[in-house]
Amino acid sequence: MKTFEELGVAAPILKAIQEMGYESPMPVQEEVIPFLLGEDNDVIALAQTGTGKTAAFGLPILQKIDVTRYQPQALILCPTRELCLQIADDLNDYSKYIDNLKVLPVYGGSSIESQIKTLKRGVHVVVATPGRLLDLMNRKTVDLGTIKNVIMDEADEMLNMGFTDSINAILAEVPPARNMLLFSATMPQGIASIMKKYMKNPKEIVIGNKNEGNKNIKDIYYMVRAQDKYLALKRIADYYPNIYGIVFCRTRKETQEIADKLIQDGYNADSLHGELSQAQRDYVMQKFRVKNIQLLVATDVAARGLDVDDLTHVINYGLPDEVESYTHRRGRTGRAGKTGISISICHVKEKGKIRLIENIIKKKFEKGVMPSGHDICEKQLFNLVDQIEKVKVDEEEIATLMPQIYRKLEWLDKEDIIKRVVSLEFNRMIDYYKDADEIQEVDERSARSERTERGERRSHTAEEGFSRFFLNFGKTDGLYPNQLIELVNKCVPGKVRIGKIDLRDSFSFFEVEEGESQRVMDNMNGFEIDGKRISVEPAQGKGEGSRSSRGGFGRGGGNSRGGGNGGSRGGYKGGGGYKGKREGGFSGSTSDRRNSEKPWRRDTSDRNARKKRY
Ligand code: AMP
Repeated sequence: MKTFEELGVAAPILKAIQEMGYESPMPVQEEVIPFLLGEDNDVIALAQTGTGKTAAFGLPILQKIDVTRYQPQALILCPTRELCLQIADDLNDYSKYIDNLKVLPVYGGSSIESQIKTLKRGVHVVVATPGRLLDLMNRKTVDLGTIKNVIMDEADEMLNMGFTDSINAILAEVPPARNMLLFSATMPQGIASIMKKYMKNPKEIVIGNKNEGNKNIKDIYYMVRAQDKYLALKRIADYYPNIYGIVFCRTRKETQEIADKLIQDGYNADSLHGELSQAQRDYVMQKFRVKNIQLLVATDVAARGLDVDDLTHVINYGLPDEVESYTHRRGRTGRAGKTGISISICHVKEKGKIRLIENIIKKKFEKGVMPSGHDICEKQLFNLVDQIEKVKVDEEEIATLMPQIYRKLEWLDKEDIIKRVVSLEFNRMIDYYKDADEIQEVDERSARSERTERGERRSHTAEEGFSRFFLNFGKTDGLYPNQLIELVNKCVPGKVRIGKIDLRDSFSFFEVEEGESQRVMDNMNGFEIDGKRISVEPAQGKGEGSRSSRGGFGRGGGNSRGGGNGGSRGGYKGGGGYKGKREGGFSGSTSDRRNSEKPWRRDTSDRNARKKRY
């Protein structure tokens, strides 16, 4: 292996990177640095994030800058504001000992005027997101005629984000006699056309095999039923007490929902997605960077460019729609030579996607075995013991209290004290997990039988995105599915999407979209039909609540995670639900109605006729 010096890196840069702790070049640097230090050398490099690519292109381009000429000489294009700032920061660090070298990040969402002012004063390196750069070009405030090196970082991401036209417009303004370097984690068709159009005999550098994932990342999947996904997520988080990771969700809505649930259940989590303002996103990212947050629930787009090197885990809460995105997700862990775990919590329907991803990363997933309650308790317990060993004792502050404490505990021997200290935490965990149902992992066969069973016995759980309700009218009241739909629509103003309907003799269940739950209850409860008041309430069998009333540790108390209230315990809140109502509510009234017509046609047709009794 060569040293940075042997690769040709000059003294001022060497000094800076040594201070940053770069002892020897990473493979991509060994390949790219000497080549880029030469003239007219185009490179296309297939490398994941975290492989050291910023220094690979950053060191040679900085070295080639003529600081006496205040003109843009290097242009770096990247997909996101975060990555833009990160690259600019890195370049500033590398050029710490090169006097007067100016790097300017230009990106959307910040004042264009101040970027224009800096450009007027003169800069050497422009790091830009394509949209904002094009805007500056259109305002004639930046001239790319003096550019000698163009770098496209995360080129596949830029294409995914729809920047192809902007990139073409930008590259058309750069003089043809320039070096061009393109970094990409994957090699979609669009990259090949850019290569053909703008690059001259590019040297192809592949770090690892083409499209192959990092070897130091373990890919594990858990196949669970849709309604168990969140429980599985919590088990995984509980099983790795020191987890520091990103939970990827597919939509903004799902991201917010999962983050809210985790926070409510006492986990140290927060959300990152496009509906947050830039300031909110910056705030969350900063909290995550400094590890004030352990689990960041994010969409793919929002997490792009997040520069965190020491993630222990990436969790895919379902696989991404675009299988290529998996490469980017998993690339957030196992960076800079560290190991990482990419966990996918998937549904049996996603099995095909796993095979596709395996083809892309050229690696097999491991099938994970969901940790049992016992495994989790053991893991958490030893983590606690570990913390007891490592805790820093403030000798001075505690000294005055110790005699009293010794006196109080002197009747206990050492073993007893240890058992008691540990039990403070252990009892709580055991309480959560001892009666919890184990999460059923599914394979295709069990999924099929689950589906059959669902058809025969009817599920007690709501479909994803829906809430299940109990209604105190059933078949013996003459209720049919279409009448139930009519009833809901008559009672509730506006349109309500109704999901599964499950009619029983004297009562029924129906589902409505989750967001509509409150409105449906508010509007239906209070109607009377032939003197019988409608009662609609959440069915207990909804989601996880019916299976396991203990989802995870409600963090807080003595737990290291902080956050959370000691009392919140997973999704299930209370055990009332329909059961209690059914026992108390139906027996008399339905029998009287057996022979009656379908009364809702009469009474609910006129909203004014409803009697609100409470
Ligand atoms: P990048 O792929 O450029 O985002 O780099 C990933 C991480 O590796 C960053 O934290 C870099 O600071 C770090 N890094 C890059 N090159 C080296 C090196 N030669 N030695 C140690 N760390 C490095």
